[in-house]
Amino acid sequence: MSSESDDGTLFERLRRALESGRLAHAYVFAGLPSRTHAMAIRLLQLLHCDSGSGRPCGRCPACRNVAAHRHADSLWIEPRNKSRNIDIDTVRSIRGHMARSSMAGRWKSAVFAGADRMQEPAANALLKMLEEPTPDTIFLLLSDNPQALLDTVRSRCQVLRLHGGGGAPDAFSGPMLEILEAGGPGVIGGLLRARRLGALLKPERERIEKEEKAAVNWDLYEGKARERMEEIVDARVAARYKGTLSDALLALERWYHDILLCAAGAGESFFIHGDRAHSVRALAAGLTCGRACHNIRVIEDMKGQVDLNVSESMLFDRAFAVLTARNKES
Ligand SMILES: [Zn+2]
Repeated sequence: MSSESDDGTLFERLRRALESGRLAHAYVFAGLPSRTHAMAIRLLQLLHCDSGSGRPCGRCPACRNVAAHRHADSLWIEPRNKSRNIDIDTVRSIRGHMARSSMAGRWKSAVFAGADRMQEPAANALLKMLEEPTPDTIFLLLSDNPQALLDTVRSRCQVLRLHGGGGAPDAFSGPMLEILEAGGPGVIGGLLRARRLGALLKPERERIEKEEKAAVNWDLYEGKARERMEEIVDARVAARYKGTLSDALLALERWYHDILLCAAGAGESFFIHGDRAHSVRALAAGLTCGRACHNIRVIEDMKGQVDLNVSESMLFDRAFAVLTARNKES
């Protein structure tokens, strides 16, 4: 998964890809809805704009229609029914749209906002279309929880993660940073941080579970069907929580990246968290560059373990035992 620190850079990359005929026929834009929606609109305006300038003008009828989700060549699909899912009929109806030639003689596109809300049959119907790409068509899957997409669907798409320009990657980074700043040095401090991070994430798991359970009309399922549905809900919860953990680890990595920069002698203008430079400097004091690099590798390692379904408490306990060890071993 490629990671972009700046939405503008990512858009430029897409623009150059279009210019050189290398635009992929399917993308996953992963990130907060505000960002992924804005990026989808910008890319579609680039494809449909009447200005002929090679950049979206934002003012022509095509650009305005794209922004209002009513361009004739561009379908915008969102989870709408009571269960907030995208169903198979909706996906099937797109096949005809994508097969017809473009009204304006340009691109045909379909955007799935909340793409992770696609039920499995719907996702499989989409997969068929992704497997038989037609020229000048593009699929955009927007999701704040890309881990919940079918692997087969995700692997057919180019996945681009949108974090915005240097801001917080998610809602946790504020409370997370407070935990990372406090707690004192040494192994005890590390253990304390690990426990508090675990406690921060636990209610999030419960919230996701509640939401997913409420999205199902349980009256429709009995016996075996109910058991199967319970399994599906469990899988959805696990997938969404994985996304939460990944975001938390990203926030952790950004914090330790500042500590590395500080240990390497960089000034606070280079920090992501320049407003917390005092804490960064305190934590970097006495840390060698080698040790600070090692810390980043520990976090990289943690990211790999998220996919192995290691519990968050084990993940943080193990990692912080290493992260707080100072220079003794190096
Ligand atoms: Zn335009």
